[in-house]
Amino acid sequence: MARWLKGVKRVSTSSNDAECSKAVRAENTTITDPDDNATTSSSTVSKTEKRKHDESYIGFGFVDSNSSPLCTLCNKLLPNSSMAPAKLRRHLKTVHSESKNKNKEFFVRNKEELLESQKSMMHVTQTINEKATEASYLFSYRIAQAGEAHTVAENSIKPCVLDITKCMLDEKSAKHLPTVPLSNDIVSRRIHDLASYVKKELVTRL
Ligand SMILES: [Zn+2]
Repeated sequence: MARWLKGVKRVSTSSNDAECSKAVRAENTTITDPDDNATTSSSTVSKTEKRKHDESYIGFGFVDSNSSPLCTLCNKLLPNSSMAPAKLRRHLKTVHSESKNKNKEFFVRNKEELLESQKSMMHVTQTINEKATEASYLFSYRIAQAGEAHTVAENSIKPCVLDITKCMLDEKSAKHLPTVPLSNDIVSRRIHDLASYVKKELVTRL
């Protein structure tokens, strides 16, 4: 039993983090740009004047994102100093050699797909954030009702809920749980919010 628990603990803590950082590292290495060095060295020059985006840059697969060129093929945001046809073309040729001969329509279509996916991603993140905040309030309300210490959420309830979710649902669902803010400070702030809301309601009804 103890061995089994140890195993679970190891899987739940280290492997997730390790996998995550591995994925991030892999992503970073795959999209490293050969002209990165060139861009950093020239960034000091461009401090005084910002390069402007041109509509024609979509021909190299780039759109404007807050004055920085964003590659629609790999989602990489290059520095403003790379906002020049030669540098954008170099990124396209070296990183996306399979798409270097594509026409403008291909990139326009790609851009629309990217915008669409960004929109749906934002929607998902927004709903997850809203749900996490709601869960955090409900959680805090129960702790206040039970008169428990505020630290109980982070120290024991959260790990328990995580275990139950992993067993009863799946790892994917459990990954959403850490987004629920349940630290000591947050719980006491939530309880304070709830109490002042109740007080305000009561006063307005008098
Ligand atoms: Zn790219």
